[in-house]
Amino acid sequence: IQDLDQITIAIVGGGPAGFYTAKKILSDNDQAHVHIFEKLPFPYGLVRYGVAPDHQPIKKIINDFKEVSHNPRLKFYGNVTIGRDISVKEITENYSGVVYSYGAQNDKKLGIPGENVKNVFSGREIVNWYNGHPDYCNLPIDFSKIKNIVIVGNGNVALDVARILIKAKTGELDDTDITAKSLSELKRNNIENIFLVGRRGLIQAQFSMKEFRAFSQTKGANFYVWKDEYERSLNENSKWEFSDQMNSATRLARINKRRYDIIKNLQQIQNLNEIQNNFQINVHLKALLSPFQVNSENGYVSSVDFNRNILKGEPFEQKSFVEESLGTENIKCDLLIRCIGYESENIDGIQIPWDFSNNKIAHHNGCVLQHNSKDKIQIGKYASGWVKTGPIGVLDQTMLGCIETTNNIENHINHLALVPKKDCEEKINQILKERKVEAVSIQDWEKIDAYEIKKGQQNKKIREKIINIEEALELLRL
Ligand code: FAD
Repeated sequence: IQDLDQITIAIVGGGPAGFYTAKKILSDNDQAHVHIFEKLPFPYGLVRYGVAPDHQPIKKIINDFKEVSHNPRLKFYGNVTIGRDISVKEITENYSGVVYSYGAQNDKKLGIPGENVKNVFSGREIVNWYNGHPDYCNLPIDFSKIKNIVIVGNGNVALDVARILIKAKTGELDDTDITAKSLSELKRNNIENIFLVGRRGLIQAQFSMKEFRAFSQTKGANFYVWKDEYERSLNENSKWEFSDQMNSATRLARINKRRYDIIKNLQQIQNLNEIQNNFQINVHLKALLSPFQVNSENGYVSSVDFNRNILKGEPFEQKSFVEESLGTENIKCDLLIRCIGYESENIDGIQIPWDFSNNKIAHHNGCVLQHNSKDKIQIGKYASGWVKTGPIGVLDQTMLGCIETTNNIENHINHLALVPKKDCEEKINQILKERKVEAVSIQDWEKIDAYEIKKGQQNKKIREKIINIEEALELLRL
């Protein structure tokens, strides 16, 4: 009979997927242990560094994670990077099983000439910066010089970024957990125009309905669509979208109809001269444009050239194509933000098989595949969260994906397929000691947490995050 209380699963990554996975392993099984390894001294991944500061209700999920972290069978190793402080091989050898839950730490590039000039950033960099991620707290932007911004991409991250830029000015972020440093920089902005540019039509944008509706009502901004793009977006859809057959329409058609209802009420313009000086930020929902060149002056972005596109294809399957006859368009800007997606990376090419076509771990239902196999799994190796699914979906979807993975783990535990590891904790502690890694325990994190909340209260904010790893470690050494 196997000692199930000696089954210990290591989870690489202390974001939502790491905590959802831990919670389910610990509740499915009343003996197994879980160790979470998180590279930062601060847990919760994108709930802390992605979710926008004005979306505080979403962050309440942290209360759930807190409860999990108090389970005596869970141990948290913060400030430990797997692949640097401890190798993937060492983790694999020392634990009964390993779950890779380390998210997506890179971003997609536009892949066009000029993209590497100054004042071109990814949405991920901007989001990390205003949310106080230690690796991005010194992003080189001088917002006082920024008047026109192009944001390429039509997903929720693009909306988050645009909304935060607007709300920073209206004072609506003052009591949130946005960092004091980034907020004071954002308040210096002189933004006149934000161009939110999508490849496809206005109706096909990826924004979720709830986010889009809230965005279109943001105070402190005027919203515009451009007449020609509006008409071209609708022409392509009218034949199916707004017909009498809406009764039997699919969910997607209904969503598109609601999107249309918002868009049709926005002011239409044909050029920037039509806008009277209104002392508000002008947000332009631009559509059917693909960037092909970033232009610069003195090393800083000055404008972006776009091809005008046309939509082709069956309803719901439409793709955007460059139509030479429609010509090009140039949009002037002092800041270009590409919000075209996060991207995962392989932290150990030898240990972790990679699905190169989708840039994620090669797996079957959350079980890591054997190298070069499409269906044979490796018992004891798993994936959950964005490194499993690719960087898509909100927290609920991430949680559902974790359940699929943990069902397999539970199955393997019940079939005695995982090897008990007696002394993994001593071995890991020994390795960390030898390498002088200052691991942050959950009690340590709670000390940091209390400090941040207290510092926030002094300034009538929810919290003031520590944005420097050394400062956090210093606090713990006291
Ligand atoms: P992550 O949250 O990225 O967590 C991964 C963790 O792994 C991180 O803590 C990272 O530091 C750690 N890590 C990375 N490499 C290593 C390593 N080598 N060793 C140890 N640790 C490592 N969802 C909503 O429901 N509502 C929202 O409002 C919302 N807003 C969002 C806004 C943005 C800008 C983004 C990008 C996402 C948003 N989401 C939102 C989606 C949500 O954040 C994701 O579904 C979720 O965070 C994915 O969880 P994850 O654990 O896979 O990845």
